[in-house]
Amino acid sequence: MLRHFWLNIYLILIKYSRLTTMNLNKTTLLAIFCSGVLITGCQSGKQETAAVKAIDTTNMDRVIKPGDDFFRYANGNWIKNHPVPDQYADYGAFVQLAEENREQLKSLVQEAAGANGAKGTVTQQIGDFYKSGMDSLAIEKAGVEPLKTDFEKISKLGNGAELAAYYADLHKRGTYPVFAAFQMPDARQSEMVVLNLYQGGLGLPEVEYYLDPSVQMAEIRNEYQKFIRTMLTLSGMEQTAAEKAASDVMSLETSLAKVSMGIEERRDPIATYNMKSIDELKKLAPNFDWSAYFSAMGLAKLDKVNVMMPNFFAGFSKLLTEVPAATWQNYFRYTLMIHNSSYLTDAIQKADFDFYNSYLSGQKEMKPRWKRVLSTVSGGLGEAIGKLYVEKYFPADAKARMVELTNNLKKSLASSIQNLTWMSEETKKAALAKLEAMRVKVGYPDKWIDYSKLDIAANSYIENAWNASRFSTELEMGKVGKPVDKEEWVMTPQTVNAGYVPPMNEIIFPAAILQPPFFYKDADDAVNYGAIGVVIGHEMTHGFDDQGRKYDAKGNLVDWWTPADADKFVEKTQILVNQFNEYPILDSLRVNGKLTLGENIADNGGLNLSLRAFKATLKGDEKEIDGFTPMQRFFLSYAQVWRESIRDKKLMRDIKEDEHSPAEARVNRALFNINEFYDAFDIKSDAKLYIQPEQRASIW
Ligand SMILES: [Zn+2]
Repeated sequence: MLRHFWLNIYLILIKYSRLTTMNLNKTTLLAIFCSGVLITGCQSGKQETAAVKAIDTTNMDRVIKPGDDFFRYANGNWIKNHPVPDQYADYGAFVQLAEENREQLKSLVQEAAGANGAKGTVTQQIGDFYKSGMDSLAIEKAGVEPLKTDFEKISKLGNGAELAAYYADLHKRGTYPVFAAFQMPDARQSEMVVLNLYQGGLGLPEVEYYLDPSVQMAEIRNEYQKFIRTMLTLSGMEQTAAEKAASDVMSLETSLAKVSMGIEERRDPIATYNMKSIDELKKLAPNFDWSAYFSAMGLAKLDKVNVMMPNFFAGFSKLLTEVPAATWQNYFRYTLMIHNSSYLTDAIQKADFDFYNSYLSGQKEMKPRWKRVLSTVSGGLGEAIGKLYVEKYFPADAKARMVELTNNLKKSLASSIQNLTWMSEETKKAALAKLEAMRVKVGYPDKWIDYSKLDIAANSYIENAWNASRFSTELEMGKVGKPVDKEEWVMTPQTVNAGYVPPMNEIIFPAAILQPPFFYKDADDAVNYGAIGVVIGHEMTHGFDDQGRKYDAKGNLVDWWTPADADKFVEKTQILVNQFNEYPILDSLRVNGKLTLGENIADNGGLNLSLRAFKATLKGDEKEIDGFTPMQRFFLSYAQVWRESIRDKKLMRDIKEDEHSPAEARVNRALFNINEFYDAFDIKSDAKLYIQPEQRASIW
């Protein structure tokens, strides 16, 4: 995946919070492999995304030498002129495009809301879902009333069958205490869909937030405990009781953190493949009533499940009996509040914002209601809105041009594999077969999800969100144990991102990314190869990154490497680990080279592949534009895609939580491994970012 839009997918995975009604199963599938996704939200409407010029030289800071800081050479003036707006934690080309998109989606949704369509039609569903979210008076009036039945149930919960059935009830409504269950292709039998159990239950963003003894983390834990107390108070609990309960919930989450798998290991598809029969699962985690849970999820006949983090589930089972029922009850009450905060009162949404967006990420102001509601509706009715979106905004010729570019990039990677000096013929053959089999999805699905059975009404936002989540869960659970439907899409067309799905060996480019600044229908080739071309190459390379390479042409975890070639691959990629480990962020921090390796390999590969494909189009008579050669424009186009202003707090979080390197490093490290880049800008060995030729990374 290209970029980590943290608000949705990533957090869904880590803590399943603020899920809105995103389709957990699909998003999780992508998130696991690419980490990443969705739309932070937005700000000042039509800015320069629809931009006039493909490469805007006024964005540059030409006082800076290209070899000293190419990121600021290409984007320095843009950064100076674009401090992060109050509604954001970071701001750049992705957010600008997402904002443009949001305006388009808003007009579609408002049109639907005005149409008063007949019950069960897509127009009615979109319109009423949106109206119910915008009806702040009704939401304020309801208060926590919609959760009252849950609170009563929770107050009587023990840990028997009724607990397991209640988990299923919550999961279906998009609340994920402790763990999540989702479908995806079986990584050792990729034609078939299997159920996966994934760890969760943490309200803080990562395991180390609970366990790291540093002063900074201790302070965050302190603030977090206050936040738990605030949420419990807002749920109607009395102050003193909430104080005690917050402390208990914090201890419970810390115990869960201690048995959780860390972020680096979670990237490893072999470590997270632990297929178990239901009997084996019951032995591993005997204190949870799995039969009652699966049966309530509509999976009574399930015979096996992939337990992605076995230690976690064993630990969870122990905690079920060790931790008093009263603590578990408070934990459920709190989880219910934070996972549903977006549908509740302003005070609840504000408390959630104050901790997660403001305290942890530095965002100053909440996004307006319409943006928050739009994001929920666009998640819950993803493909219904996607269909309207592509009909109105996605030109057919964009798809054709994109398919052509992708084919050129495939050829570029094929010839690159054939010419590799470090790889044996045997491994090359398997790599070429994998590339040949890689499926490409562009724009939108050929067949759309039918939402006609989803019940949406104008009178209750939270009920609509729950219904959308129930609908999606039923759809997803219905696929378990059946053959994989290869026509399915794991991203909606209106998503500004791109992805590679290893067990399907496919790359996806949703319609929304096929716009400036990634894709200009009418710009010179240098611009498109530098932007969308690198994006395509990046996603293709994910099939051959440190984790993607473990899957074969069919998307199975089958080792197709000779041991000697695998060793050479590790040795070559270690260069990237070391380079990024040394890249300074905010003076004292460093990028985590191991965590970001997959993405850094993909950037390195993407640049090389697209550059080769671009060079093949050059005839030698191309003219300079704005004083820049085609080669210079290729690199500038790449760097301008990554223009970004970011708050310090957000940057610190990303270093711990994001598999992608910060934008600055994606420019200032990635480009300095490319020989042609040095020639294009005449960069010599005295430049600050210069890397000796023999120390440059080149894998694919
Ligand atoms: Zn990626």
